[in-house]
Formats: sequence, C-alpha cells, structure tokens
Amino acid sequence: MAFKGCTKIWMNGKLVPFEDAKIHVLSHVIHYGSANFEGDRCYNTPKGPMAFRLVDHVERLFNSCKIYRMEIPFTKAQIHDACLETIRANGLKDCYIRPIAYRGFSQLGVDPTGCPIDVAIAVWDWGKYLGPEALEQGVDVRVSSWNRMAPNTLPYMAKSAANYMNSQLIKMEAKMDGYVEGIALDTFGMVSEGSGENLFVVHKGRIITPPLCVSVLPGITRDSVILLARDLGYELIEQGLPREMLYIADEVFFTGSAAEITPIRSVDKIKVGEGKRGPVTAALQKAFFDVIEGRSPDKYNWLTKVY
Ligand code: PMP
Repeated sequence: MAFKGCTKIWMNGKLVPFEDAKIHVLSHVIHYGSANFEGDRCYNTPKGPMAFRLVDHVERLFNSCKIYRMEIPFTKAQIHDACLETIRANGLKDCYIRPIAYRGFSQLGVDPTGCPIDVAIAVWDWGKYLGPEALEQGVDVRVSSWNRMAPNTLPYMAKSAANYMNSQLIKMEAKMDGYVEGIALDTFGMVSEGSGENLFVVHKGRIITPPLCVSVLPGITRDSVILLARDLGYELIEQGLPREMLYIADEVFFTGSAAEITPIRSVDKIKVGEGKRGPVTAALQKAFFDVIEGRSPDKYNWLTKVY
C-alpha cells in the first residue's frame, strides 16, 4: 500500500480507521481546491521518535488558513498534539506527517462562507521522496516551461492545495522528459523553486537562495539550512538568481521536508560543478542529519518527543 503504516487517521478530533477516513464528493475542497496542508517528518532518533519543527509547521498551517479566511476550529496546541497522537496511534517511529484543513460539505457556490472547516491528520512511512539514492548521488532536473504563480494571483506563502496544480504541471513535465524534478522560474524569469522544494546554489564559496518575493513557499527546511549554513560559517545570502546561474554554479541543491537536502547534479543536461554532490551540500546534509537524528545538540529546539 502507498500509505505504509497508516491504520488510523485523525478527523475533526477523532481517530478513525484508514478505510473510513472519507469525505463527500460534493465537498467544497474537491471542486475548488479549498484546502491548506502541511508536510512534516518524524525521525527515529537515539532518544526516540521526534517530530521536526512541528510548532513551525502548525504555525504555517494556521497562517495559510488565515490568508484564505479559514478559521480552524481547533487551537494550534490541539493540532500540534493531535499530530503526535496520530503518530502514537499508528505506532510509527519514522514517518511523514500530513495535516490538512479543508472546506467541507455544505454547498457548492464559489463563495465558501458557510462551509465547515474540517481538519484531518494522516501519518505514514514515506521513504526518500526523490528516490533512495538521491541524497548521495544527486538528481537530474530541468527548468520547467511552467512558471510559478504570479504575485497577487494565488498566494504562494500559503501552502494551499490549489498551488499544487501548478506543482503537478512542473513535476509531470519533468518526469515525462526523464528528469526527477523541475525547477520553475517566476513570472519575471527569475529562479523560483522546485515543484515541492526550495532551491539553493553555491557559487564562489557563497550560498545563495532566492528571496521570498520570487514566488517561493517559505520552507521550513529552507529556514533550517539558512541557520545551519551560518552556524557553519558560510556566507549565506538571499538574492534573485537568473536561470543561467544554475548552469555555472559550483553546487545546486533542493530543500524540503520530503526531499530533505537533495543535491542536483545536472540542470537541462548541463553538469553542475563536478556532476555529483559537492562539499558544501555534503557539509549541510551532515549538519542537518546530525541534529535531526540526534547526534548533535538540538540548540534551536527543533525536535518534539512523540512518545
Ligand atoms: N516549496 C514547495 C512548493 C513545497 O511544496 C515545499 C514542501 N512543503 C517546499 C518548498 C519546502 O518546504 P518545507 O521545507 O517547509 O517542506
């Protein structure tokens, strides 16, 4: 089964068996994409399973809903605890965590007011998102023919389901052409992000990531990597990147809860650097996994004990 280890799903305050976690086909979310969601991971550390930056993920979920005038009928603390409860109820140690808030069943006018805001949380064992070897070998990507959302169209600071129609176009195009992932530009032609990942480049010893104004999701892994890079003494700047920087950079990598820190070894069939994981990417991966797998101190309090 695609959802390995998922036997119970939290729905509006109750744990229900996997088979029963259903919604009506006339729910608002199905027709108009009216949902916001999160994707987080729980890691099995030597001190037991720990959820990564769960407080920040819950906060982003509430922010996404605030942008869309969706009032979640639970507090942040309740959703936070419900995520932990769902992991425990499924007995999982290493897993992906997917909370979603959506407009449910009531009526189908575009005006969503009046539809209930329902919340569900699922957890399952999800392996390496971009393939088992991606973290070491790197992935081959293309620049997408699709742009990310223009400013003031679909809010890209919200992790809303509707934005993933754009992501699906980027991802399908890349895969059909034999690439693992696509990198989209914004509507001004500047490098934005992958279909489900933020992007960083290393150029002449500096680490550069596109700023929030180029249609990127404010990624929590992105933020973690910015902190870790500065801790390691790297110069890290947020700066607009022209497409061609991807070709001449020494290293390029993706970040994301699902993708973690994944090196990019080629863009549009042009080798990035040596065409394999570079030393800065490797150093950041080590710093990241040392914290989340419990080998170095959790100085930013990123980890929450599950059991
Ligand atoms: N951009 C997009 C479009 C994404 O879907 C994701 C995954 N949530 C990211 C960036 C990375 O964000 P995070 O590190 O918070 O998972």
